[in-house]
Amino acid sequence: MPNPQSLTPTLCAIALGSNLGEPLAHVQGAVQCLDQTPTLALQACSRWYSTTAVGPPQPDYINGCVLVHSQLAPLALLDHLLAIERQFGRIRRERNGPRTLDLDLLLYGDQIIDLPRLQVPHPRMCDRPFVLVPLAEIAPDWHVPNTQHTVRQLLQTLDSAGVHRLTPEVCP
Ligand code: ADP
Ligand code: MG
Repeated sequence: MPNPQSLTPTLCAIALGSNLGEPLAHVQGAVQCLDQTPTLALQACSRWYSTTAVGPPQPDYINGCVLVHSQLAPLALLDHLLAIERQFGRIRRERNGPRTLDLDLLLYGDQIIDLPRLQVPHPRMCDRPFVLVPLAEIAPDWHVPNTQHTVRQLLQTLDSAGVHRLTPEVCP
């Protein structure tokens, strides 16, 4: 049995979002946590975007994406992301409701995973401009498994009018 914590590093894409408390501080703090994880190596971080929320009426989100090389196996990486969410005080209430931090595993190399707790590619990523706009900044040519398309091509099919880059003053 391979040790799940010492796999050959695999490039992964992770989406970050927050719309409660201090959203920018939460997503930036989460990137710091990922960067400080010994089994992960941060490769790229998108700029931050302000986006209109879907679901029940709630504040706008801050969204972004990162790329990491992961030595954690997929479920171990998911558990790590959920632990970081909890660290930032996430409480799960209604579906698509407001949250202090949401971390979604979008892509794990070219793997297709369909487990009760984990589906990769993330099942809703292709419909979400607030995911694809920041992801296209850092991984435009990534071919999304289960689709015939790259991230850039998928983004071109969506209306991204509700996704606004934060000004450089806010997001150096
Ligand atoms: P969403 O991000 O879609 O709004 P949640 O953050 O509330 O939903 O996630 C609920 C559950 O989704 C998690 O407990 C996790 O087990 C499951 N899940 C399935 N696939 C993924 C994935 N690719 N990334 C993150 N969570 C996932
Ligand atoms: Mg989530």
